[in-house]
Amino acid sequence: MNNITVLPGDGIGPEIVDQAIRVLRKVSGLFALDIICDTADIGGASIDRFGTAITDETLRKCRESKAVLLGAVGGPKWESTRPDSPRPEDALLKLRKELGLFANLRPVKVYDNLLSASALKEEIIKGVDILFLRELTGDVYFGKKERVIENGIVMAYDTMIYRDFEIERIAKLAFEMAKLRKRKVTSVEKANVVESSRLWREIVTEVHRDYRDVELIHMYVDNAAMQLVKDPRQFDVIVTSNMFGDILSDEAAMIAGSIGLIPSASLRQDSFGLYEPIHGSAPDIAGKGIANPLATILSVAMMLEFTFKNIAAARSIENAVRTFLDKGCRTADIYNEKEDAGEPAGTAQAGDIIIDLIE
Ligand code: NAD
Repeated sequence: MNNITVLPGDGIGPEIVDQAIRVLRKVSGLFALDIICDTADIGGASIDRFGTAITDETLRKCRESKAVLLGAVGGPKWESTRPDSPRPEDALLKLRKELGLFANLRPVKVYDNLLSASALKEEIIKGVDILFLRELTGDVYFGKKERVIENGIVMAYDTMIYRDFEIERIAKLAFEMAKLRKRKVTSVEKANVVESSRLWREIVTEVHRDYRDVELIHMYVDNAAMQLVKDPRQFDVIVTSNMFGDILSDEAAMIAGSIGLIPSASLRQDSFGLYEPIHGSAPDIAGKGIANPLATILSVAMMLEFTFKNIAAARSIENAVRTFLDKGCRTADIYNEKEDAGEPAGTAQAGDIIIDLIE
């Protein structure tokens, strides 16, 4: 039996997760996957019910599952600048830490028939296929942080911290992934200024000694931000730290046309993984039934590939998504009034079409 924990979360989370679960059920039947889903609250929904963004019981459920499927958390209702009030995003950091998830994989692919959905010129983005590897356990997200008052001056600081083993394991994974692709790794940091980046560069260079058949390029983060827009086709695998990865992968999502298209997998050393779209809870469109479910549906494909090692089942979802786009189906976020026929598909309608296309 393959049990997974489903955490729909807030905003559009439940809407997109519903469609992803319908897709999973269809694939599960076709490929005899024997998957059982157990749903729990997370984020704002959990704060409202239990006063905390994630309960110990939910963490236990996740720990005992083979994989977790997450929608998104957060929203204006739970935004507070008071340091002591619970925040929906606390759940994400806790999940990553408690479950030992150290690598976040974000594939950014440009579909040929969606070139016009991107803000960038078609000739720059055609054929882009980048795999982002964002480190998840270190950096300012987990280093010591504090707000202090000294001589009447309010001061806040966060510590950007990296340990050697954290860099080593993500670097290894980057080179392993590159071997399955175009054999090129771009390691992104700020070694000209930041000490933890200097350690990052040293260790990535060391790990590279075991992967001489993979090309390694070191790039400063400011240059990487520019190169992503100037010539994104130069990249194959990009490996970077927690915060740089957070920012750059959202930038890269816009190359693909919409943040609603990009799935992600957060992995640890074994086959366990947490799968989620890279976008947030999109409060501006929540409840309208227009959210794009493709990123969450593609996250299920990543789950089938990395946790359940069923490549055929994963490809059946990816092919259905490609056909959906090839047939000219569009959700509102990738709909171009001038070029696209008919009306954009709503969230559930997009789910219906994908389910029909899976074979
Ligand atoms: P967001 O990703 O939620 O939305 C950014 C923009 O993209 C919005 O205009 C939104 O409508 C659009 N968008 C996002 N997903 C879409 C989809 N599937 N289909 C169509 N359009 C989509 O980012 P934000 O507005 O900065 O954050 C909103 C909330 O989400 C905040 O509370 C933030 O903290 C939270 N957040 C959560 C996660 C997560 O759960 N992993 C990640 C990022 C942000």
